[in-house]
Amino acid sequence: MKLAVLPGDGIGKEIVAQAVKVLDVLKGEGAGIEMEYGNIGGAGFDAEGDPLPESSLKLARAADAVLLGAVGGPQYDQLDRPLRPERGLLRIRKELNLFANLRPALLYPELAGASSLKPEIVSGLDIMIVRELTGDVYFGQPRGVEVRNGERVGFNTMIYSESEVRRVAHVAFAIAMKRGKKLCSVEKANVLECSELWRDVVAEVAKDYPEVELSTLYVDNAAMQLVRNPKQFDVIVTGNLFGDILSDQASMLSGSIGMLPSASLDENNKGMYEPIHGSAPDIAGRDIANPLATILSLAMMYRYTFADMATADRIEAAVKKVIAQGYRTGDIWTEGGNKVSCSAMGDAVVAAM
Ligand code: NAD
Repeated sequence: MKLAVLPGDGIGKEIVAQAVKVLDVLKGEGAGIEMEYGNIGGAGFDAEGDPLPESSLKLARAADAVLLGAVGGPQYDQLDRPLRPERGLLRIRKELNLFANLRPALLYPELAGASSLKPEIVSGLDIMIVRELTGDVYFGQPRGVEVRNGERVGFNTMIYSESEVRRVAHVAFAIAMKRGKKLCSVEKANVLECSELWRDVVAEVAKDYPEVELSTLYVDNAAMQLVRNPKQFDVIVTGNLFGDILSDQASMLSGSIGMLPSASLDENNKGMYEPIHGSAPDIAGRDIANPLATILSLAMMYRYTFADMATADRIEAAVKKVIAQGYRTGDIWTEGGNKVSCSAMGDAVVAAM
């Protein structure tokens, strides 16, 4: 297994270091894991003047999978747009053709009290959101801000091709087959032509998966249903913009953004694995971040890129165990919990393994 490790900025370095401890355990047991480090985001800009240095892209292309921390920080907010850390992230997703973003929203029973919703609404929650990641309004052309009729106008283009919708729909149906066999496609077909096409193509792909029960929701209703009765969902598939918003919303159901991993896959299940949160500049450098989202991203890597379910299950079981044992970083801490640092949480997971 060749891994490109791109810690990035802020808490990125701290949380990735904990995931690497887990990899070191597996290496110690004889797993053939090669890790090579590269810069991305602000770290890429600082070191090589580019948020996605050529050397890092090369490393990522040569690897079987990429482990990423997070990018961004206030010190980079004034840079020209193409030089900003977030552009490095958008570019690596595009360059590696990582079109399917998998974001589970899962609630550990012990953390039900940390959710923003009532425990009875969220306990047992287990949703997988499949977000298209390389198309839509984030990449569509034309885009820009220009002067028209004496005032500035801003514009972006929402665009999806049939093939883009089809491939992400296949990924979502395949995942639904391995789970509860329910898929909800989310769009805004009552208003947007782009969504009409999305709905039609998803319905075509559904014919290949007769066992999966397909439903559709407009995105406004989906946002409402996610807080009203989130347990009605099994797998959700949606475009880049809607998925960005809904998956963050879903993350809050599960208590902390620090618990949620993600996978971004290409056509051959090569993937980039990262926590869904950002670089958390407000707590960076203090060894208090929650590393579990990053460690759970490793579990997803074993499951989706290496099809090694046993190791994936083992890492997830270790995380469950430390939660059950009462270890808590500050973001998930409630009265009575054993408050630990980022590195102590990493050590606890290693011990649980
Ligand atoms: P953020 O996710 O970094 O932080 C939001 C809040 O959650 C903060 O209060 C933070 O302290 C907390 N938090 C996040 N991760 C945590 C963890 N593991 N443990 C404990 N608490 C955690 O989002 P933001 O503050 O909006 O953005 C900060 C920077 O991160 C910005 O530069 C933004 O562009 C960037 N960002 C990057 C990514 C990414 O790399 N994928 C995603 C989102 C934001």
